[in-house]
Amino acid sequence: MSAQLIDGKAFAANLREKVGEHAATFAEKAGRKAGLAVVLVGEDPASDVYVRSKGKATVAANMESFEHRLAADTTEDVLIALVEQLNDDPAVDGILVQLPLPGDLDEQAVIAAIDPGKDVDGFHVESAGRLMVGQEGFVPCTPLGCMMMLRDRLGDLSGMNAVVIGRSNIVGKPMAQLLLDANATVTIAHSRTADLPEVVRRADIVVAAVGRPEMVKADWLKPGATVIDVGINRLDPAEGEAKGRLVGDVDFEAAKEVAGAITPVPGGVGPMTIAVLLRNTLVAAYRHEGLEPPE
Ligand code: NDP
Repeated sequence: MSAQLIDGKAFAANLREKVGEHAATFAEKAGRKAGLAVVLVGEDPASDVYVRSKGKATVAANMESFEHRLAADTTEDVLIALVEQLNDDPAVDGILVQLPLPGDLDEQAVIAAIDPGKDVDGFHVESAGRLMVGQEGFVPCTPLGCMMMLRDRLGDLSGMNAVVIGRSNIVGKPMAQLLLDANATVTIAHSRTADLPEVVRRADIVVAAVGRPEMVKADWLKPGATVIDVGINRLDPAEGEAKGRLVGDVDFEAAKEVAGAITPVPGGVGPMTIAVLLRNTLVAAYRHEGLEPPE
């Protein structure tokens, strides 16, 4: 293997420990712990796992976790009333509504009800707008985690060519904006991009956020490129396997022979997402108390 492995698990553990220390300092200064409220509607098993692990990580980082579980047939009015109650609750610094919402609940309407000062997922249009115009706000956790790993690995990104594959509101677009803010020259590729391999070949930095197993091939990469694989795809189980293997959007085994550095799946971007959520919650708490958040 020629590429350096970017160990998201270790990076995330480190960030969580740092957040935990700052959260303890915050509790001393403010006389209360920082608080994260997570709202889960319905009983989707994957969402249930995420919510549990967020709760555990929050408590482990010296913060208060508030879990609200609502039935799948909850109406939009009831859900929005809960969000408004959390907006007004001084013990709650961050609010996260676990997506996807079941039935025909309108996700945009629910997210719009969250106080932007508590929007630690960064999905509110005000947060997206603030990121776009360079004002202080909350940045979605997954792209911010990718950016932290890129800065750690590469330092100054000025002048580098970056290609982001995927243009979703939660990953691709904010990722591209963060890279632009870091003075990279950014290309956003998507399902209509012509000659994607050729576009990717120009990139010093490749961020793949597509959701297609092992789509990005080794011969698409410029030798030495830094590759961040956001994709999480479960393959069909092979014979004798109960569950299929998890793979990213990049053909990891071949790509690691060409890339300069690469994130594995699992153990790359995934673990960073919760760590950054905790970081965003702590920042929200400092701001709510009128204190300067730690760097
Ligand atoms: P979306 O489905 O919202 O977006 C996928 C994007 O990929 C779209 O912009 C789409 O283009 C583009 N795309 C689809 N097919 C192609 C193709 N053949 N060539 C080029 N581009 C293509 O996904 P998300 O952004 O929500 O998530 C992307 C991946 O990241 C998923 O695997 C998801 O599970 C994972 N993920 C991981 C997280 C983590 O914590 N590690 C967090 C969030 C997501 P178009 O717009 O033209 O349709």
